[in-house]
Amino acid sequence: MINIDLHCHSNVSDGVLSPTDVVARAAVNGVHALALTDHDDVAGLAAACVAAGAAGLTLISGVEISVTWSGQTVHIVGLRIDPAHPELAAGLQGIRLGRIERAQYMSADLARSGITGAYEGANAYAVNKEMVGRTHFARWLVAQGHAPDMRSAFRRFLTRGNPGYVEHEWTTLENAVRWIRASGGLAVIAHPGRYAFKAHELHRLLDAFRTLGGEGIEVITGSHHPSEYGKFADLARAFGLKASRGADFHAPGEGIDIGRLPALPHYCQPVWQDWPELEPYFSLSPG
Ligand code: AMP
Ligand code: MN
Ligand code: MN
Ligand code: MN
Repeated sequence: MINIDLHCHSNVSDGVLSPTDVVARAAVNGVHALALTDHDDVAGLAAACVAAGAAGLTLISGVEISVTWSGQTVHIVGLRIDPAHPELAAGLQGIRLGRIERAQYMSADLARSGITGAYEGANAYAVNKEMVGRTHFARWLVAQGHAPDMRSAFRRFLTRGNPGYVEHEWTTLENAVRWIRASGGLAVIAHPGRYAFKAHELHRLLDAFRTLGGEGIEVITGSHHPSEYGKFADLARAFGLKASRGADFHAPGEGIDIGRLPALPHYCQPVWQDWPELEPYFSLSPG
């Protein structure tokens, strides 16, 4: 069967492996096509593409854009984007500039709870200094003994109502979808099960996203419990969205590994169904 993983991170954002090592790991795990989708940056795609050529797998150019919609953070994955597209590149640059300032506020907030030096600490974990984010803070907090693991770090800190959390205005849903589409890509709502929306708000999001030209939604992701797969497969169908599959891999030993996910439910229309670069693999898929 064809193994496609359309969501993962390198150390260009908050993953721990280099883009080259992410691709090598995907190859070892039997992935045929991989999208590297770093947060708000495309700087890893060139190296990943070279590595994919050497490893004999197909690299899909991707990105995961941070958006604020209805007062909450929503992530939009762009697939088959052109990373050199000026509007997309400028938009992502703007988001990254906001991250540095936010990190300073996060650090100041942690300091009010007696945890000092977090900005410097988190930065030491960020290979790409423009991309410093909550994961880097969480890694530092765990290393400092403030939390036993990443999960607890996000439960105790960095989340709404807890030390280290600051409200931040990302870009709009409209911008993210427009940049992705302008660069020739396809927009996908990442891990819909992670948002704290009520059902009617989630439906409004899907509706707005569809109206803006968004085309897909993640159904199988490392962020969904298996009991949620059916719900999001049904929502995809109800809202006329294609289904995507991606581990959201960040680091070995953290969450689901690259390509180690169940297949999409058979009644889903995969986002990749008409991608010419994947045609050679389609014979692998039964039916
Ligand atoms: P940021 O974009 O800087 O706000 O960071 C968001 C990232 O934090 C996500 O992409 C995840 O990698 C990570 N994250 C958020 N919540 C959690 C959680 N509960 N456990 C582990 N990682 C999380
Ligand atoms: Mn992340
Ligand atoms: Mn995400
Ligand atoms: Mn992600």
